[in-house]
Amino acid sequence: MNLQERDKAVNWHPYTQMKTDNQAIPIVKGKGVYLFDDEGRRYIDAVSSWWVTLHGHAHPYIAEKVFEQLNTLEQVIFAGFTHEPAIQLSEKLLQLLPENQNKVFYSDNGSTAVEVALKMCIQYAYNQGENKSKILAFKNAYHGDTFGAMSVSGRSVWTKPFGNMLFEVIFIDTPNAENVESLKSQIKNFSDEIACFIYEPLVQGAAGMLMYEPEYLDELMKFCRESGILMVQDEVFTGFGRTGKLFATDYLSEKPDIMCFSKGLTGGTMPMGITTCSEEIFNAFLSEDKYKTLFHGHSFTANPLACTAALASLELLLKDETLNQIKLITKKHLDFSQILKNQENVENVRQIGTILAWDFKTEKGTSYFNEIGKKFYKEFLSRGIIMRPLGNVMYLVPPYCITSEELDFIYENILEVLQVEY
Ligand SMILES: *Cc1c(COP(=O)(O)O)cnc(C)c1O
Repeated sequence: MNLQERDKAVNWHPYTQMKTDNQAIPIVKGKGVYLFDDEGRRYIDAVSSWWVTLHGHAHPYIAEKVFEQLNTLEQVIFAGFTHEPAIQLSEKLLQLLPENQNKVFYSDNGSTAVEVALKMCIQYAYNQGENKSKILAFKNAYHGDTFGAMSVSGRSVWTKPFGNMLFEVIFIDTPNAENVESLKSQIKNFSDEIACFIYEPLVQGAAGMLMYEPEYLDELMKFCRESGILMVQDEVFTGFGRTGKLFATDYLSEKPDIMCFSKGLTGGTMPMGITTCSEEIFNAFLSEDKYKTLFHGHSFTANPLACTAALASLELLLKDETLNQIKLITKKHLDFSQILKNQENVENVRQIGTILAWDFKTEKGTSYFNEIGKKFYKEFLSRGIIMRPLGNVMYLVPPYCITSEELDFIYENILEVLQVEY
């Protein structure tokens, strides 16, 4: 049996209808922006392997650092013990975040980073003798696939089977010039019951790269701050340069109380999640009363290998070379978006930093299940490009090591594919 057949016999893939989409492509090697399959074909990874890869695949510097760490200390229980990689990573990350971010809590992925944030907010109220049972979130939000994270995500086909198991959330539209005042009055009705407001800053990734303006988010955040509502900023996708600045928070003047990170955190090499919080949140858990402890932890909390990968990735990210690459991608995306805007079957072209997205106009309208996405996916694969449209929403989120020529190659293919009759 070949790899594909062996895979089919034993593996169940994520977000995959295994009856109809069971032809996983075996990848045997990655290098830079390329992935290689078992037949020697190479693909440009234009979606950074589900938005995680920052510096390219199998980056030798990260590999070297992780190998060294693997030979020194691979894992240690993080309750009662600590280690250099976790200390250094927390020190370095906090330096890059708004100055109110004060403590780092480690977990395993984006969803768990969100779970920790929600638990911090709910118990923050509980520890002060208050019961706040509602959460505020945006329609179309995506915060992960575990139950808490699913609860605060927009209700969709993904959450439907679990509908009556999800907790109560107040969903509002993302803010703009027209609706921001009405959003504030919607919040006002519940402000005493709301434990926190959780949001993806500026870009709602999984919903189809929907974007909104920092100005109005700032206004909403200011209102929440004044109303005593804690803010959880989910930078799982937007963190580490994706939006053209190091973090989406760098576009904002207001500061969140809590921040969540994952995806690009380790440069896309290892799973890890981080939840940071302000001193005020942290202090609300300090007590002689043991019941006020944050009772949360994972077996692999602050795994030294993942911390080391994150440190190496951060070091690469802050190099002039990488920051210039982010600028180059941003500039090229901007130029290409002008060309896209002139395509007949393209609408809603949107871009921030290294993220470029647009809708393919179809009679069926915008939907995750729009079949056109699958056709595009196959067409791009046959051209050696990995793009994974969300229904009729097409987007690019390339690793930062991509060259100008490689971007041009992708752009040219996009323009050709847009001309194909479907
Ligand atoms: C992907 C994502 C998550 C979930 O992260 P996982 O590591 O897949 O659990 C949470 N929030 C946002 C904004 C994301 O894009």
